[in-house]
Amino acid sequence: MKPFDLKKAASSAWRALKYFVKHRSLAVSEGVKAQRLKVCDSCPYLHRWGRLHQCRVCTCLVHAKAGLITESCPKNLWTS
Ligand code: SF4
Repeated sequence: MKPFDLKKAASSAWRALKYFVKHRSLAVSEGVKAQRLKVCDSCPYLHRWGRLHQCRVCTCLVHAKAGLITESCPKNLWTS
């Protein structure tokens, strides 16, 4: 497992907090999340470490990342 990029994590958390304060919502639909995770599942940058699935590019845990509206794929592989 690659060490987490704490600077990126802090930046993502700040972006998510600002969005949540403004919109009172942060989650994408279950369908969008499932679509994103399907792309991650076949992505060469995905690292499976037991039940944890980590993106090697951004170091995020994809099951958490894919559910947030403020997140995007660092390789622009997600379509939603
Ligand atoms: S977020 Fe993008 S680059 Fe990372 S594992 Fe998923 S599809 Fe691949």
